[in-house]
Amino acid sequence: MIKEITAKTLLSSARQPDPWFGIKYTMNLYRGCQHQCIYCDSRSECYQIEDFDHDVLVKANALDLLRDELPRKRVKGTVGTGSMNDPYMPLEAKLNLTGRALEIIAGHRFPVHIITKSDLVVRDADILADIGRVYAAVSFTVTAADDDLSRRLEPGAPPTSRRFAALSALAARGIYAGVTMMPILPFIEDNAENIAGIAAQAAAAGASYIMPGFGMTLRDRQRTYYYAQLDRLFPGLRQQYEARFSDRYSAAANDARKLERLFAELCARHGIATHMKHYRIEEPVRQLALF
Ligand code: SF4
Repeated sequence: MIKEITAKTLLSSARQPDPWFGIKYTMNLYRGCQHQCIYCDSRSECYQIEDFDHDVLVKANALDLLRDELPRKRVKGTVGTGSMNDPYMPLEAKLNLTGRALEIIAGHRFPVHIITKSDLVVRDADILADIGRVYAAVSFTVTAADDDLSRRLEPGAPPTSRRFAALSALAARGIYAGVTMMPILPFIEDNAENIAGIAAQAAAAGASYIMPGFGMTLRDRQRTYYYAQLDRLFPGLRQQYEARFSDRYSAAANDARKLERLFAELCARHGIATHMKHYRIEEPVRQLALF
């Protein structure tokens, strides 16, 4: 069910930009996500999204909050969106909340980083190209080289090939775009064929970077949901997970070191970076006292 809510604040600030994506301000326009990836970490109890698999909450006052909060930020840092929900989930096609937020961000000349699994982001290519004069990055999450597998694991999201087509369209516009290859699910995606397939498609699409994560988290509600989906989609696999990971919080990919080496070789061969460039924060200008 889609529900509107009124949020108290919109941007949450980090003391320092995070080392992966360089994000200083996190922006979530929605709570919950229509993409319904079977491994999604946003189901975890710590995020307090009670009915993640049924409700999507729309922050009805998000744009007003953004207009109010952004100009009051003394430090110009990257606004990041897409870690807790996908800013281009199907609902966005109708609401254009992300598109309108980007216009506000562009008006204030703030840098932006988007994580998405959707080709709907191409709709906003013009505005992203404009923001890109300061800094704009779009990271497409791809975990499976194969469309059929991506449809099983990420049933509400466009399949892998559409994500790469979108990446290619943005890269052709000169927008800085790459791949977040995470999570890599143990026993399902942690094989050389999958990693090589993703790297080859990323190279063909013109990706500037691929950021990998060889493994996944397995936390409380996230684990419960994931294991139920394993029973449905991959009978017998849950038992392998339980034997290997017990109640551990993180589940490393099989042969993670070997896959990391292969990944580094592939990226070097394709000329793709394994880290992304961040926006460099400049210290706020101090007013000089006249007297
Ligand atoms: S797109 Fe991201 S936030 Fe949405 S369900 Fe998938 S992993 Fe979760």
